[in-house]
Amino acid sequence: MQSSILITVDVEDWFQVENFKTYIPFPTWSQKELRVEKNVHRLLDLFDSFNEQRKTNDGLTKNSLKATFFVLGWIAKRLPHLVREIQARGHEVASHGFNHNLCNEELKDRLKQDLHDSKKLLEDIINAPVFGYRAPSFSINDDTLKIIEECGYLYDSSFNSFAMHGRYGKILLNNYAKQGTSYQTSNNFYELPVSNLTLGKKCFVFPWGGGAYFRIIPFSIFKRGVESIQKKENAYLFYMHPWEIDPDQPRVSKASASFKFRHYINLNKTFSKLTRFIKYFSQCRFISCRQYLDEIADS
Ligand SMILES: [Zn+2]
Repeated sequence: MQSSILITVDVEDWFQVENFKTYIPFPTWSQKELRVEKNVHRLLDLFDSFNEQRKTNDGLTKNSLKATFFVLGWIAKRLPHLVREIQARGHEVASHGFNHNLCNEELKDRLKQDLHDSKKLLEDIINAPVFGYRAPSFSINDDTLKIIEECGYLYDSSFNSFAMHGRYGKILLNNYAKQGTSYQTSNNFYELPVSNLTLGKKCFVFPWGGGAYFRIIPFSIFKRGVESIQKKENAYLFYMHPWEIDPDQPRVSKASASFKFRHYINLNKTFSKLTRFIKYFSQCRFISCRQYLDEIADS
C-alpha cells in the first residue's frame, strides 16, 4: 500500500502558545488580535489547490488531501463558522482541549470536564462525532491516556517521544500492539504518536514531526528523515500550527531569547516549505487520523 502522510494542525492563535503564557496571561487573551482564521484559510486553500491539481479529466479528485485539525475550544467558541468550514472542506475536526491547560498539571476532574466540554462543543458545531484529541504541548501520561478514553474519544495523538524536551509527556507503549504508526492501547482506543526519527544502535530520537523542527531543519535533510520513517512505518505523522505561517504576527518582546528563537524562526519560509513538502510527497496518500485508524481496523 502507498505510504500515508497524516498532516495535523493544532488550531490555536499566536498568543496561546505555552512558552508565552507568563507574558500573555489567560484573562488577556480576549483583548488580543485573532489571526487564526486567516491563517487556517491559507492552509485550507493550499490543500484545496493540491486537490485541484489532482483532478482527473472527469472532474473527480483521486486521493484528495485530508488533514486533521485539532481545534482549541476557546477558538471554536469564538469562530464556530471556521470549524464548520474545516469540516465542509473535507477535513477531520478533533479536539485540542478547551483553554490550552497542560493535561499533566490538571486535576483529574477538571481534565475530565475539559475533555468532555471541548468534545461536546465541537460536536454541537459540526453536528457529527469527534474522535480525536491532542493534549496541549504533548502533555500526556499513562493516566491521562485512560481518562481521554473514558471521555469517549477513539484516539489520542499527543505522544512525542523526544524526551529531551522537558514538557513533553511520557507514556509506555511497549506493551501495546503496534500497526504502522499506531498503537492499540485497548479494544476501543489508539495512540497515534507524532513521528520522530530514530537512529543508531542506541536508538537516539531526533524530533522530526513538525513544529519548530520543521522550520529549522533544511528541507533537503528533513525529507530524507521523513522517507526513513516511512520505510519503517509506511506512514508519517506531521504537526503544525496556523501561526507558523504568519510572519506578521505581533512580537512578544518580553519573552526569553530561546522562546523567541523557537517561535519566530523561519516563519516567513514555512508556507513555501509546506507547499514543497506536499509536492515532494505527492505520491503518498494524505489522510486524516480517523481515516488511517479505520484502515488499520479493516486490515
Ligand atoms: Zn497547542
